[in-house]
Amino acid sequence: MVYLFLDADDYLLSRRIAGLKAARKHRPDVVLCRWSVAGLNGHQVLEAMRQDSELNLTPFILLTDATERFATGGASPSHTRRAMELGADDCLVSPFTHVEISNTIAARINRQVATNDLYMTALRNSAEKINRLAHYDSLTDLPNYRLLHQRLSQAITTAHSSQQTLAFLSISLDRLRLVNTVMGYPAGDELLKAAARRLHACIPTGATLARLTANQFAIVLPNLERNQQARETAENLMDALSRPFSLPGQEVFVTTSIGIAFLLHQSEDIYTLLRQADAALEYAKKQKSNHAQTYRSDMPVVFSDQITMETWLRYALERDEFEVYYQPQLNLAAGKIEGSEALIRWHHPEHGYISPAKFIPLAEDTGLIVEIGKWVLETACAQAKRWISMNRGIRYISINLSSVQFNQSDLIDQIKNTLANSGLLPSELELEITETALMQDAESAISTLGELKALGIRLAIDDFGTGYSSLSYLKQLPIDTLKIDNCFVRGANEDPKNQAILQSTIELAHRLDLQVVAEGVETPDEQALLSQYQCDYLQGFWVGKPMAAADFEAQMM
Ligand code: C2E
Ligand code: MG
Ligand code: MG
Repeated sequence: MVYLFLDADDYLLSRRIAGLKAARKHRPDVVLCRWSVAGLNGHQVLEAMRQDSELNLTPFILLTDATERFATGGASPSHTRRAMELGADDCLVSPFTHVEISNTIAARINRQVATNDLYMTALRNSAEKINRLAHYDSLTDLPNYRLLHQRLSQAITTAHSSQQTLAFLSISLDRLRLVNTVMGYPAGDELLKAAARRLHACIPTGATLARLTANQFAIVLPNLERNQQARETAENLMDALSRPFSLPGQEVFVTTSIGIAFLLHQSEDIYTLLRQADAALEYAKKQKSNHAQTYRSDMPVVFSDQITMETWLRYALERDEFEVYYQPQLNLAAGKIEGSEALIRWHHPEHGYISPAKFIPLAEDTGLIVEIGKWVLETACAQAKRWISMNRGIRYISINLSSVQFNQSDLIDQIKNTLANSGLLPSELELEITETALMQDAESAISTLGELKALGIRLAIDDFGTGYSSLSYLKQLPIDTLKIDNCFVRGANEDPKNQAILQSTIELAHRLDLQVVAEGVETPDEQALLSQYQCDYLQGFWVGKPMAAADFEAQMM
């Protein structure tokens, strides 16, 4: 233990500086400072110590002299007070016994030790927290992709040297998205946590269970003696997940698909294994539900590898791989193209064109849709502004809004800013939202739609007729347009039931003062039918396919 005794009375500046220097050099555990006649010097020493990053926590004990208390300039109560304010830890008034002084020192040191312990514990906790955040999934507490990657690499190295085999299982909960859209994200979260617990209970010791993407888990089974063990584990996992899950208000069943890949050759690396398990998983998904499939070399290793797709998706925006296409909408009565729907396209440099039906759900699950959706909004609004200013018949643009964007708290601000920056009028923008997105939380959807409506924006329900809509809500929603889904339009001429649906939906919409857009019109017969039912707008390959902005301008305007 190092004590440092300073005599702050010393009026020589050089001595005080020397005292501080000594303190910096010896890093004392406690500083005792005599402080009497020229108390101000003591303040300066203390102040200098408290400003020094290495000494600012060192206990400082003030020693004053009672006889000098009333002397001019002595350690008066206000000086003592000031010293305490500057960070002195204790004060002893002489005469004091050596017992008193050693008790005071001991008390300070003990306190310092306790503080240090607390500090170290806090540091350790933060380090652990950071480590957890980096390596574990916060929802399920399971290892994430990064930690799985480490464990799998280690397991592969061990397997190569020990001549044992290992299996990698890729597991998908097939109905999570449905639960999310119908019952809401909190219910989806509960389901995931419960599923994670059941999966964990089924895996042997030494195995690693990780959560990879929203609905995908993975398991590393090291040190296998027989390949059959992996299949048995897969069966157990599917059994465990096939029991119903009790979520608030409802029991839910999920179906599971599992892809299994074995480490067979010395040359195989981690990425081969991941790709093979995913190829097997894709295959399993196409079979009956609750199916586990082992990888075979004749399976195409396609672009189904969710992890790779996710990584690519993360870079697609900055690498400029997205493009907005525009599909014309025809005003039937006027016989004119008056607007278009903006549809995103992803041109991947290696994999070519990737359908939005494939990457939009992943973008939604990973939250990337927020950035992507913002980009589409900005790009399409700016484009529409140019077309409208050309005065050649285009009056509006229609843009898809994902449920994730729709629930963003800054949605309204984002849209206001985009309109202001592009110069597009609110009445020239239509936003498309699916029924399912609206029905997740109908009450709050009504209020968000109300805010959008108040800005003067037009609102459309997309894919009408395919989701869970409710007529009582339909009546309350401040919307302008119904977009009847492709599936009712396609082949309607040969399908009397679809004809009945089309005719009555159009009639219902008109009675509710809504306009109707029929999607997916592919033939002149379909156009004639819809014209007979007095549909307002047509969209579909018959009118025009989605096309790049330059093509749209050349062909449609
Ligand atoms: P949607 O909004 O219902 O868009 C209509 C889809 O039908 C488009 O598919 C379009 O290419 C396709 N389609 C149009 N006419 C016909 C036709 O005559 N026959 C057939 N068979 N199909 C036709 P696409 O472009 O693949 O987009 C699929 C879905 O992805 C869209 O469905 C929309 O829900 C979503 N999506 C596309 N772009 C965006 C976007 O920028 N943001 C968001 N959130 N979602 C988008
Ligand atoms: Mg749409
Ligand atoms: Mg649609």
